[in-house]
Amino acid sequence: MDGIALKSAERDSVTAEILSQLADAGFALAGICDAKPIDRPHAFAAWLAEGHHGQMHYLAKHVSKRVDPSQLVEDAKSIICVADCYSDGKPDERRVDHERHGRIARYARGRDYHRVLRERLEPIAQSLRLRFPGERFRVCVDTAPIAERDHAVRAGLGRIGKHTLLIGDHGVGSWLVLGEIVTTLHLTPTPSRDGDPCGSCTRCIDACPTQAIEPWKVKAERCISYLTIEHEGEPAEWFRNRADDWLFGCDACIEACPHSQWTLRARETPIRSDYAATHGSFELDAVARWTEEERINLGLSEVLLRASLASWKRNAELLVRKQA
Ligand code: SF4
Ligand code: SF4
Repeated sequence: MDGIALKSAERDSVTAEILSQLADAGFALAGICDAKPIDRPHAFAAWLAEGHHGQMHYLAKHVSKRVDPSQLVEDAKSIICVADCYSDGKPDERRVDHERHGRIARYARGRDYHRVLRERLEPIAQSLRLRFPGERFRVCVDTAPIAERDHAVRAGLGRIGKHTLLIGDHGVGSWLVLGEIVTTLHLTPTPSRDGDPCGSCTRCIDACPTQAIEPWKVKAERCISYLTIEHEGEPAEWFRNRADDWLFGCDACIEACPHSQWTLRARETPIRSDYAATHGSFELDAVARWTEEERINLGLSEVLLRASLASWKRNAELLVRKQA
């Protein structure tokens, strides 16, 4: 059964109820946008054509769905966008006894964010399915080809910085993981904020250890996040001394950004206990000795398990050699 279009006043009221539910569910940011194609599909196509996705061949699949959400959910009208803040940006301590450790990017230090977001989005989607049985509601948390940052900007969650990440206002910065509900239900969009959050700043570009960033473009094939997690096999020769102290992922561009500093406002941002660090770093020699059984039985989150044993060992050995 197809859904019945809500009248304007009812649409506003349902939208307000959904936003209230999202706030009660503890999302740091939430908003709604129309399910329109993204504004610059050609930029994504050009980025792919230049090979910046490296071995992430899945990005080159389902491009039409990625740029047009109505191809992901037929007749999609709206996208409910949410973000969790996983860090206040407090700098990591760098003690002498940490020299033989490699750091984990902050998003991966606690529980798997896919689960943390999904277990709060699914009940909201399910309540909407029961209330609007003729409509469809698809929850996406990195599990579907969707241009999540573009939609988050349209929904008013923040703006995109030169490092290509979403920057939330009010001290939230870019310590954000995103989720969506794509729906055929027509809701009222929330206002977006225009403007460039960067001005003449180039701190993220200057801080990137591998020169992966051009303004509003990241060459993923040069990015430590990609090279330590997604890339299989030996790294390119140029990368051998460039990973700084990152064992899994990299936060250098966010750490450098003035919007993501450990300010009083950032410290007041509610951060769910799910994201509290269980693994902030690992001892490099230990990782280099891991067996597959140990990797599986260490209690790593699914996010950390994404890197194969060979990748963990390769990353550890690169840092050991660099620190030797
Ligand atoms: S995550 Fe690290 S390597 Fe990647 S763009 Fe940011 S600073 Fe550069
Ligand atoms: S560091 Fe500066 S240039 Fe980079 S995203 Fe932040 S404000 Fe923009």
